Amino acid sequence: MAENSLNQALQAGLEQARKDSLYRSRRTLLPQGGPRVRMNGRSLLNFCSNDYLGLKDHPDICKAFKAGIDKFGAGSGASSLVTGYTIAHAALEEELAEFVGRERALLCSTGYMANLGVATSLAGRGDTIIEDRLNHASLIDGARLSGARLKRYQHADLRSFQQHLQQAGGKVLVMTDALFSMDGDEAPLAGLAQQCRNNDATLMVDDAHGIGVMGPGGSGTLAARGLDMAAVPVLMGTLGKAFGTFGAFIAGSEFLIDTLVQKARAYIYTTALPPALAQAGRAALAVVKDSDHRREHLQQLIRQLREGGRQLGLNFIESKTPIQPLLVGDPKQALELSNQLEKRGILVTAIRPPTVPAGTSRLRITLSAGHGKEDVELLLEALDKCRVN
Ligand SMILES: *Cc1c(COP(=O)(O)O)cnc(C)c1O
Repeated sequence: MAENSLNQALQAGLEQARKDSLYRSRRTLLPQGGPRVRMNGRSLLNFCSNDYLGLKDHPDICKAFKAGIDKFGAGSGASSLVTGYTIAHAALEEELAEFVGRERALLCSTGYMANLGVATSLAGRGDTIIEDRLNHASLIDGARLSGARLKRYQHADLRSFQQHLQQAGGKVLVMTDALFSMDGDEAPLAGLAQQCRNNDATLMVDDAHGIGVMGPGGSGTLAARGLDMAAVPVLMGTLGKAFGTFGAFIAGSEFLIDTLVQKARAYIYTTALPPALAQAGRAALAVVKDSDHRREHLQQLIRQLREGGRQLGLNFIESKTPIQPLLVGDPKQALELSNQLEKRGILVTAIRPPTVPAGTSRLRITLSAGHGKEDVELLLEALDKCRVN
């Protein structure tokens, strides 16, 4: 395509997205510590980060990051299988495996890549991957990349899941979010684990939103539900959310991790995480384990928001987690509500298709232990004044 016609086609696509209220743009922020950010010269309260425990500027974690740079430098210099793997990575892997009660862990650059690595290593042509309809994009993309047949069941519906399971051919890999990222509800994990066991299917759970927040010492949703490595052989967790840093890990048996090191192209063919980040991750893990008071405070804020929302008659999606989405429906109205809140000093982005199904645009409000009760009061006051319908 000549450059002119390329740009014409792109421009037409962008214009259509704007018309449909589906155009996406980035906001340029200056973080101010805690949940406050500056944007266009104004200070706003951030209610849409995934920093659930408020750890992203915790002094111990920042100190470990800086000390890690002094010790190891800024980058890792190579992929893990060449020379990028250091004593910092190995130590964090050991500590994470112990934290989630699995034999071993593999530290990956991002959760997105971890999910690609799992799907492409454990399934291929002739196999079947079964997923919840509302799974995170990275789980869907991993399945597509694997070449396996992808089947998607009705959200959190064990009967629909069972139908796909019975019809599946080849090896069967089942992948699900533990806590759904745009809805905040929980997958029927015990039922999935049982059926996978009965049918010799492998269950992989992505606990990006539960690790650090749920379970004893923040050890995750699987620990909270008593699902061990036999029930769920593959666990993925991220360090960019409740851990306040960056990176991700896969945990499971010795054989699982060893296989991923051989086969996971999204792990093999990319530069290793900077070792200083692994050091920050180790400090974050220590803080997460010691954060019962933060988890309790977070639960109080969740109750406060839901109770306040109920009194105001707000349309919150049923959720017990820090993800408390307010269903709007129409993308234009969701954008309008987000803009009105911004004028009142509250930052919540509108989530629209294709991130969520058509007709379910929403404000994905998230709470953090870094918020105070007074912040939630401000949010509720603003929501009360900003209705669009
Ligand atoms: C955020 C997220 C990921 C991706 O993790 P990154 O480390 O940000 O790449 C994967 N799965 C789920 C469910 C997520 O919410």
